[in-house]
Amino acid sequence: MIVVMRVAATEEDIDRVVERIQQAGGEAKLDRGVERTIIGVRTGRHDLAPESFKMLPGVEDAVRINKPYKLASREFHPSDTVFTLRGATFGGGNVVMVAGPCSIESEEQILASARAVKAAGGKVLRGGAFKPRSSPYSFQGLGEEGVRLLADAGRETGLPVVTEVMHPRQIDLVAAYADMIQVGARNMQNFDLLKELATVHKPILLKRGMAATVEDLLQSAEYLLAGGFDEVILCERGIRTFETATRSTLDLSAVPVLKKMSHLPVAVDPSHAAGQAGLVPALALAAVAAGADALLVEIHPDPATAKSDGPQSLTFAAFQSLMEQCRRVAEALGRSL
Ligand code: PEP
Ligand code: MN
Repeated sequence: MIVVMRVAATEEDIDRVVERIQQAGGEAKLDRGVERTIIGVRTGRHDLAPESFKMLPGVEDAVRINKPYKLASREFHPSDTVFTLRGATFGGGNVVMVAGPCSIESEEQILASARAVKAAGGKVLRGGAFKPRSSPYSFQGLGEEGVRLLADAGRETGLPVVTEVMHPRQIDLVAAYADMIQVGARNMQNFDLLKELATVHKPILLKRGMAATVEDLLQSAEYLLAGGFDEVILCERGIRTFETATRSTLDLSAVPVLKKMSHLPVAVDPSHAAGQAGLVPALALAAVAAGADALLVEIHPDPATAKSDGPQSLTFAAFQSLMEQCRRVAEALGRSL
């Protein structure tokens, strides 16, 4: 941040600003020009709000220069964050396929899905046990039993698993079974959940809220990174726009934008954006071409009977064929899947 003093500011005004900066744990660097003084502020880890400085006597303006998401920013961390989750490497040019059903429904269903993911070359198994449903009358997930079935299917097939937590009280259970924890779109700005997750030191798949800007997403990632563990994946999953032809509008530009602004791996979920299985392949291929580090795709042994998100779930055969196409796009760009 910089604080621009008024031409008529007194020494007392300047001293007051400097004192306020120091009280907040920052460092002030004065640049005394012919007409006015500009104060450069080094804020360290904590952000100082420009608004509170603008109110002080003698202050013309206070402008934030450093981003409010320092730890997530590329300025702070120029090289890509790359990490490996039991054989699946996120970041560094590789594309990781994360796939599985929207919800874990039964042992047979999750195991069949896990085998289909494995057979097609997917690297991580997904499945929801605590489901954020728009209607309280919709299937809410199997809870603890679901998490256990997911972990069993992961063990059986050798795939790491990811599942969502909706509430801080679910964290211990989910962390005990899952290799990676998902924060859903509806919880991206549940700051108490993010603060609690920051202490767990497990990889997090952070989904973009459907009405969140890219900057909002990075600020949420900042909450997680503040815990000192940087294995966080940012996931674009479609945003709400005036368009109703798709469930959400996939913001593909978020992929290169996030890669430019942040060092964290970027995933794309074409399933929740499209809302229709037929549209998923086109969006998935475009995401690989746009530079996504991972894809998150919903599949189901029998989409017509799925307890959630059946219309957007791929059959195993469609998933297998999507994998082959994604691989070809990745290879054309010198990447692997
Ligand atoms: C999901 O991954 O099943 C899910 C609920 O996604 P989102 O939070 O993006 O809606
Ligand atoms: Mn879903």
